[in-house]
Amino acid sequence: EIVLSVRDLRATVDGTEILKGLNLEVRAGEIHAIMGLNGSGKSTFSKVLAGHPDYEVTAGEIHFKGQDVLELDPHDRATAGIFLAFQYPLEIPGVSNRDFLRVAFNAHRKARGEDEIDVFDFDDLIEEKLDLVKMDASFLDRSVNEGFSGGEKKRNEILQMALLEPALSILDETDSGLDIDALKTVAGGVNQLANAHNAVVLITHYQRLLDYIVPDFVHVMADGRIITTGGKDLAKQLESRGYEWVLEEFRTGV
Ligand code: ADP
Ligand code: MG
Ligand code: MG
Repeated sequence: EIVLSVRDLRATVDGTEILKGLNLEVRAGEIHAIMGLNGSGKSTFSKVLAGHPDYEVTAGEIHFKGQDVLELDPHDRATAGIFLAFQYPLEIPGVSNRDFLRVAFNAHRKARGEDEIDVFDFDDLIEEKLDLVKMDASFLDRSVNEGFSGGEKKRNEILQMALLEPALSILDETDSGLDIDALKTVAGGVNQLANAHNAVVLITHYQRLLDYIVPDFVHVMADGRIITTGGKDLAKQLESRGYEWVLEEFRTGV
């Protein structure tokens, strides 16, 4: 089953074209890594997928499980099952993480035509998911992301993912700023959540995360498009040889 299909996608920010004909196909059960130098357009791609209002799609198509994504507003994309960590607000003083997660969870259930669950059932559910990210229950009673360390924010992203069970998760620079223990926990969470019915797209500049989450495909992005695709070994090659040889092969058409 094709989860995500992107064809000849072009997008601009403030009139400047950043995505210049991006193609990508992701099937259920697959983990894809998108790598590339800073400024290659990786985050722009994830923001376009989320429907960020600053980014204008000027050409191409995005389909999610056969649905035309470009016709959906950001909220509907999320409830349809596309998860992007940064869709959720950075800090919300005065709102506990527990309440925030429950509201988000129930909004997703409602969008799927399911009944909302009550506070007590939610508590049982969330405690189960906490183990996955090795978080203490006290974490839920703090204000959303307020005073969270970098590692806690990333773990919270994986906790949201565990709760919402999206069909497609896009994790942009989930590894940045994590110490090795937090990185292993986050990777372990993603590995446990990945299954035959969903798909994960990891966007990362470094190959370090890919020591712990093994991708089925590695794509290299440059100048707003995917210029080459390989298996997990490509990430290793990029680590040892850098990006220049890939760019050179692309330029010379090898
Ligand atoms: P990456 O995530 O691969 O580092 P980005 O998608 O963040 O790349 O950036 C790609 C290019 O788009 C960069 O040249 C960046 O300066 C430009 N860009 C990204 N967002 C904006 C914006 N809001 N306004 C203007 N230029 C932007
Ligand atoms: Mg960047
Ligand atoms: Mg980026």
